[in-house]
Amino acid sequence: MSLYGDYDPQNIFAQIIRGDAPCFRIYEDDDVLAFLDLFPQSFGHTLVIPKRATARNLLEIEPDTLCTLALAVQKVARVVVDELKPDGVQLMQFNGAPGGQTVFHIHMHIVPRYADQGLGNHAQGKADPAELERLAVRLRQRFDAPA
Ligand code: AMP
Repeated sequence: MSLYGDYDPQNIFAQIIRGDAPCFRIYEDDDVLAFLDLFPQSFGHTLVIPKRATARNLLEIEPDTLCTLALAVQKVARVVVDELKPDGVQLMQFNGAPGGQTVFHIHMHIVPRYADQGLGNHAQGKADPAELERLAVRLRQRFDAPA
């Protein structure tokens, strides 16, 4: 997939938004959805996606939607950091297959980083669904808690 092309409404994130595919949801509002990455690069690796956009990448997204997405990323990252207490946090976003993109619905990665693990992909393959569910419940509670 190059940087250019049509948005495919059958991509996995579009299916998740429609409710046609499952996800380990941690936060949702009218505009965005945040859920745990199935192949986490670290404990707490989270994805944030706009729900109404049909943009495949950063070059296509409407400015207003990008602003909404950025604000949501900050909100979710604050909760993830507050709950999991990583030593750092990476935000990542890839465009086009040669740029590392594999799912062609724009998304932001929030990757907590832990000092004893360094950088790099510590993915152990697909995460244990039971562990992801426990983590999703834990993080979701933070959003549900009264301010
Ligand atoms: P990217 O390489 O930026 O396109 O990242 C896509 C990310 O989506 C990867 O980190 C995948 O592990 C992740 N991913 C793919 N399918 C799913 C899914 N069904 N649920 C959660 N994460 C997924």
